[in-house]
Amino acid sequence: MNAPVTPRTIRIHPDDNVAVVVNDGGLPAGTALPGGPTLVQAVPQGHKVALADLPAGTAVRRYNVVIGHTAVDIPAGGWVNEQRLVMPGARSFDDLPAPQPPAELPPLEGHSFQGYRNADGSVGTRNLLAVTTTVQCVAGVLEFAVERIKKDLLPKYPNVDGVVGLTHSYGCGVAIDAPDAIIPIRTVRNLAMNPNFGGEVMVLSLGCEKLQPERLLPPGSIPISDERQGPDVVCLQDEKHVGFMSMIDSILTQAKTHLERLNARQRTTCPVSELVVGVQCGGSDAFSGITANPAVGFATDLLVRAGATVMFSENTEVRDAVDQLTRRAATQEVADAIVRELGWYDAYLARGQADRSANTTPGNKKGGLSNIVEKAMGSIVKSGNGPIHGVIAPGEKVRQKGLIFAATPASDFICGTLQLAAGMNLHVFTTGRGTPYGLAECPVIKVATRNDLARRWHDLMDINAGRIASGEATIEELGWELFHRMLAVASGEKTWAEKWGLHNDLVLFNPAPVT
Ligand code: CA
Repeated sequence: MNAPVTPRTIRIHPDDNVAVVVNDGGLPAGTALPGGPTLVQAVPQGHKVALADLPAGTAVRRYNVVIGHTAVDIPAGGWVNEQRLVMPGARSFDDLPAPQPPAELPPLEGHSFQGYRNADGSVGTRNLLAVTTTVQCVAGVLEFAVERIKKDLLPKYPNVDGVVGLTHSYGCGVAIDAPDAIIPIRTVRNLAMNPNFGGEVMVLSLGCEKLQPERLLPPGSIPISDERQGPDVVCLQDEKHVGFMSMIDSILTQAKTHLERLNARQRTTCPVSELVVGVQCGGSDAFSGITANPAVGFATDLLVRAGATVMFSENTEVRDAVDQLTRRAATQEVADAIVRELGWYDAYLARGQADRSANTTPGNKKGGLSNIVEKAMGSIVKSGNGPIHGVIAPGEKVRQKGLIFAATPASDFICGTLQLAAGMNLHVFTTGRGTPYGLAECPVIKVATRNDLARRWHDLMDINAGRIASGEATIEELGWELFHRMLAVASGEKTWAEKWGLHNDLVLFNPAPVT
């Protein structure tokens, strides 16, 4: 006999008419909820139970937001799931609230980390050699060269953390003059400037591709140290190359120059204001918005208070909260930019005959998220409680401090790639279903939403926010723990993904046609 479990549910807001089941394995029919109804059927973990009779057509509230209307009569104690909920239409951009931003958060002082100061003023959390590519054709050659650099060169440069090939699917076979081509082009350009690469730009080109090195990195876009001669480019079709090994030797010779400069760098004490943190979620469940994302939101506020830059993203996961965003905008210009980006994305989805509802996955639904409205309300809390200070378009570099909406697709790989291009030097990623996500370019701190996931994936998850749901820790305690872990990781402490070497590919966002 198992010991009887104490039923636990969480209602986010006093006006909500559903609560989420916390217990591992869910709760069986007949369970009497403390101070609430008795379950009329089994309700899985993470799923919603009706706290009152909800006749068909009743507005279902979670986060004090209408996440849908009941499609059938659901009695008190019944299971509210995606099949029993009709999703509301997307919030219109007309009559959005004018900015009424919350007061600026009080400054937070006395915290620092050990980072690599770059010539342009940015700060790296890792000391990596990156090799940029103009086109996918060179990817195999670069992979071969990177293995050689790791084996033959890196042992001689112990202060260098690694070498990364910035390979991608762009560069040729694309409508490079189409208006939206600016997005993948500036993404590849700005990726090369990520603070973790120390301002050392090395480019591998094929020769005949559409994205020529001069177009990728025009004068003025490259680091000051390279401005006179331009970036180092190895071009495989150069006549001087006779045989494959000649190409590899050229790459290794250039790599040595950059490795020598990188190896001479030391970590120095840097203020928290030099962090550029991207927050993201993936493999979300109903706990994302209860445990991990609120803890991230608390840490976001701490970072912003300390003067850092924090980017939140994922267009389809903020679309249903657009009214919250415009209200939190620091200025009317920021509010207008939010609407501009989300409106552009609506049109992009419509061109593909889709809308924001295409976002949710089978795993999201299994985890209790009925639709994108519910997912969005849980996703947006990663942005904390402060005013929104700025907005950047996909692939742009962030150039200001504070809380920034970096408009990107929600796709984990594309969002991460675009946040890297924006200048991210630290990534925080929450997951409920579980994902081994990692990036070679920047450390990724992964936060589990549930104890069960943290227990099973004990050597993949860096922080367990499930303790919030089980009552073992508060959001504030978890937020501070995450903040301190961020400073440790920024200073060189390895994440689980780094220990195992788990790296997802860079994935560009190319809304323009291919040919
Ligand atoms: Ca995501």
